[in-house]
Amino acid sequence: MREQPPPVEEVRVASRSPRRFEPILGAEAVRAAEERATRLRERLRGRRIWNVNSTAVGGGVAEMLPSLLGYARDLGVDARWLVIGGEPAFFGVTKRLHHALHGSAGDGRPLGVAERETYEAVQRHNAPQLLERIRPGDVVILHDPQTAGLAPALAGAGAVLAWRCHIGHDAVNAEVESGWSFLAPYLADVPAYVFSRRAYVPRQLDGDRAVVIAPSIDPFSAKNEELDEKTVRSVLVQVGLVGGSPRSGGVSFSGSGGEARRVSRAAHVVREGPAPAWETPLVVQVSRWDPLKDPLGVIEGYCSLLDDGGAGGAELVLAGPDVSSVSDDPEGQAVLASAVSAWRALPPRARRRIHLAQLPTEDLAENASMVNALQRHAAVVVQKSLNEGFGLTVTEAMWKARPVLASAVGGIRDQIEDGLSGVLVADASDREAYARALAALIGGPDRAAAIGAAARERVRDRYLGLRHLGQYADLLERLGLW
Ligand code: UDP
Repeated sequence: MREQPPPVEEVRVASRSPRRFEPILGAEAVRAAEERATRLRERLRGRRIWNVNSTAVGGGVAEMLPSLLGYARDLGVDARWLVIGGEPAFFGVTKRLHHALHGSAGDGRPLGVAERETYEAVQRHNAPQLLERIRPGDVVILHDPQTAGLAPALAGAGAVLAWRCHIGHDAVNAEVESGWSFLAPYLADVPAYVFSRRAYVPRQLDGDRAVVIAPSIDPFSAKNEELDEKTVRSVLVQVGLVGGSPRSGGVSFSGSGGEARRVSRAAHVVREGPAPAWETPLVVQVSRWDPLKDPLGVIEGYCSLLDDGGAGGAELVLAGPDVSSVSDDPEGQAVLASAVSAWRALPPRARRRIHLAQLPTEDLAENASMVNALQRHAAVVVQKSLNEGFGLTVTEAMWKARPVLASAVGGIRDQIEDGLSGVLVADASDREAYARALAALIGGPDRAAAIGAAARERVRDRYLGLRHLGQYADLLERLGLW
């Protein structure tokens, strides 16, 4: 007997005022957004806009929806969020699809008839529950492979559909083909597709229906809000990533909108010797423990820098979520274990300068404040990914005016203009080139600061939520609702 998936749930989103963008984007940009929303509201004439995905926490979609929907709601647009239910076998299939669309084999198992049956059974469970809420004429934006199979039932009931895919691969291979062959039949009658890059639009879908919208970050979230130096320092002492004595009651401070923030937990850090001093420059990568984030390459590149004397006193922090709390991600545990073994095999002088940190995830706002402080304190942020649909961590660090050194893969090639708003390593597997570029950034603080300043400007111009909302308004116009 197959396990019964949990019911569909609506995530309630609190409205957030777009006026908060005025100091960053100017009053005129906010006024234009308000005017556009007024026109949109009139034209929508009571239609609601539903976003549907498969998780309320974790991952880029769950990171973006609360802020985008919050701003839309404040602008008077009735935007909502539904989360479908799934069970382990379903998520096994959708994880395989996720890997396939990234061009990788995942667990190596097929996407055949049995997998299709598992996938469709969950859609049959969810579709009637969605249709209890969604009215004919409502707009539904389905996110990612988990929800693609809902399209036929929703279209049949008169919903106006778009499907947004947040993943993709630069080149076509057998895995990519098998993933798209599985998904495309469900999407044949969907009038609009959204991708993060044009290159991700597969041949199996009608390219004329595809639009490109890049992800965005929220400058006022716990992850990205301004933190003064004192707060950054006390948060990092509390976490155990900067030397000092943590406070017994934790660190409390006010968020950008007056929210009460608190960091009281410590990271679990694999290290030998003390935490880095506040003055020690840090090279930082923040990522899930995933082979595509190349943690071993990050360690090896840093070590060759040490051998050449190019590290200039900088130490390396590799940070990711606590794997013991994520019991359903055996891959994360294995990847962390391989990073720890690689670290153990290093000579003591390298081991002493490398810190492998698992950040607690029990409280997501606390985890976000930790990431925020760590990114702000970094001398250089690296993202040595071997593949990346769009690197949110890259945009997060750029917004904090950090010089980012990243592989020229996927969406990162759009995010960073090489040598201007960051530095790209052309060949993601070239650890020597990565080490040389890192040495140049550590040894050239003026250039690093200029790159950081340009990075912040680039995010301001391209990767904040108001731009994103404007593109969603374009999408609705394209759907021909009026
Ligand atoms: N992240 C986090 N805590 C961690 C590690 C990562 O909040 O311990 C966040 C990170 O800040 C980013 C997201 O997870 O917002 C990862 O998104 P990205 O696009 O970089 O990579 P993905 O995990 O989607 O492949």
